[in-house]
Amino acid sequence: MKIGVPKEIKNHEYRVGMTPAAVHELCGHGHRVYVEKDAGAAIGFTDDDYTKAGAVILENGAAVFEAANMIVKVKEPQANERALLTLDHTLFTYLHLAPDQAQTDDLVASGATCIAYETVTDRHGRLPLLAPMSEVAGRMSIQAGAHCLEKSLGGRGVLLGGVPGVSPARVTVIGGGVVGQNAVAMAIGLGAQVMVLDRNMDVLRYLDHLYGNRISTLFSTAATLDEAVTESDLVIGGVLIPGASAPKLVTRDMVSRMPEGSVIVDVAIDQGGCTETSKPTTHDAPTYVVDGVVHYCVANMPGAVARTSTLALNNATLPFIAALANKGPEKAMKEDPHLRNGLNVFQGKVTFREVAESTGYEF
Ligand code: NAD
Repeated sequence: MKIGVPKEIKNHEYRVGMTPAAVHELCGHGHRVYVEKDAGAAIGFTDDDYTKAGAVILENGAAVFEAANMIVKVKEPQANERALLTLDHTLFTYLHLAPDQAQTDDLVASGATCIAYETVTDRHGRLPLLAPMSEVAGRMSIQAGAHCLEKSLGGRGVLLGGVPGVSPARVTVIGGGVVGQNAVAMAIGLGAQVMVLDRNMDVLRYLDHLYGNRISTLFSTAATLDEAVTESDLVIGGVLIPGASAPKLVTRDMVSRMPEGSVIVDVAIDQGGCTETSKPTTHDAPTYVVDGVVHYCVANMPGAVARTSTLALNNATLPFIAALANKGPEKAMKEDPHLRNGLNVFQGKVTFREVAESTGYEF
């Protein structure tokens, strides 16, 4: 298999689809790997490291798409990258198609085989290729939220952990999955008062068992959400309905009743966000204010800690990249239904139900 690793071109995206260690492993299996010049330079993986691992360095992204039949990336292909995809390509990357009509249209038109990291499953029904980035984003969400609570960024001027004699901040985490659990761990570590809402009782039982009365757990309904959100200094949005757009659980009305200077970090923004007032932002301008509430809605949060994120992502993707390359995509997916669950677009058809429903394609 000829595998291509283009440099990421999304704003402030410094991650890279494969580390030199991953390239070394694939080359050891007899595959050719083409890496775009400087693809990993920003996070300390030099072209020399890739060359030593067995890769061929190519001058630009177009040359990589031309040389390779499997493209391994991090973020969804941008419009100019989508124009380079053909029927002969297998694309393996995060896609997040449900809220992205233009991308879905282009991938369907390309005829390529498009496998989305975020819908590959494991035998427990979890999402093993989303998990490492959710761990990073969950941990970062509290760091970002704590920073936004500072006055200079429009926040309430509240310290998350308080100090002796002053109450800690109230943090509400919506969704107790991977993002939520990592956010809870960091918020507790910083001494905040933490509330978690989920609709899965097993999740709430697990968190209750883990933290006892250090946290409060609540079954998520419109009423419990309203109460928790409107009394919080910091709200973390970490809900997910796999493959579908995020439900708008926090309404504009709730936002308008939050304390002035409180903060929402809507991690679920890559699936459209779970707050009615959320819109995607970038690391360049990560926040904006609605009704006095600071919104942090960066769609590629792990990009800010790109080296940690790349290493964590490759730990999870490498076995799948190897299977796709060693067996060929069709055989690999036939033999592994969990990898097959990652298939979102195949030869001009949308093959993932929730994406088809959101974008108006037949399933
Ligand atoms: P997960 O599946 O592990 O957890 C999601 C949780 O949401 C589940 O426990 C589920 O029961 C819960 N949930 C569903 N509906 C709910 C409701 N109505 N009320 C409360 N809880 C509800 O998913 P995850 O890995 O934690 O990811 C969460 C979101 O974060 C996803 O949209 C993911 O794409 C996103 N994410 C964003 C970034 C970023 O950079 N912005 C990075 C990583 C992940």
